[in-house]
Amino acid sequence: MKHKLARLEPRSNTNDKSVPTIYVITPTYYRPVQKAELTRMCHTFLLVPNLHWIVIEDAKSNSKLVTDLLNNCGVVYTLLKEETPPEQKLGEKDKNWSKPRGVHQRNTGLFWLRDVFRGLPPNQIEGVIYFADDDNTYSLEVFEEMRYTQKVSVWPVGLVGGLMVEKPKVSNNKVTGWDVSWAPNRPFALDMAGFAVNVKHFLSKPKAKFAYHVKRGYQETEFLKHLVTLEELESIAENRVLVWHTRTEKVDLRLEQK
Ligand code: UDP
Ligand code: MN
Repeated sequence: MKHKLARLEPRSNTNDKSVPTIYVITPTYYRPVQKAELTRMCHTFLLVPNLHWIVIEDAKSNSKLVTDLLNNCGVVYTLLKEETPPEQKLGEKDKNWSKPRGVHQRNTGLFWLRDVFRGLPPNQIEGVIYFADDDNTYSLEVFEEMRYTQKVSVWPVGLVGGLMVEKPKVSNNKVTGWDVSWAPNRPFALDMAGFAVNVKHFLSKPKAKFAYHVKRGYQETEFLKHLVTLEELESIAENRVLVWHTRTEKVDLRLEQK
């Protein structure tokens, strides 16, 4: 239905407003697999009630590819752009972890949200923010679990950090630390895909944003330290894996030239 409506009445809001909105922030950049990644996401998000997809292209201007894809998808969306400064941009030969990826774009998404809600009365502010990279794999349940986040919720993430699963350590429903192997001493040792933030709570912390120069693996910590303490975290989907940090193989196009 949503997909059909998008074609008949472009930009109609087909969201089910009886449940809180999930604002999904997705940085994306051009490469051969981009359309495949975004198509997969579109089809997942079509099945999630009340989701607003904020897509930020890492580019000087928005591309026809992404513009058309979002227009035809049927998910309520906002398309923005923010180019990573050239000196911070990951080169062909750089190790993928050597520079932050998607950081400027996530902040652009956050700034957009602050703008949209500026000056609105508290009873008109609702929803949850989730950072969803374009190559991960998302179950429908993860969205239902995060929807009622009060401040910041956290949950396990599959296929990340050299493990099958990285997860919060939870005792009596309280987060006490992190069950991870790589850099376990990080204050918030979790992946971007493993937490969600309540919009009202986010707006009440004007300093909350991503930092541009941080130690490898500290991006999440840099953001979350503005928002919560460990004790305040809400553990959801305990002992379940509802999102996977999958990574798409670089495609072999050697024969294109031929
Ligand atoms: N990304 C981007 N510009 C870049 C590299 C990555 O906007 O130059 C986006 C990418 O599309 C993804 C997010 O940033 O949504 C994280 O990148 P990636 O998945 O490559 O990171 P990793 O999985 O290695 O952490
Ligand atoms: Mn990724």
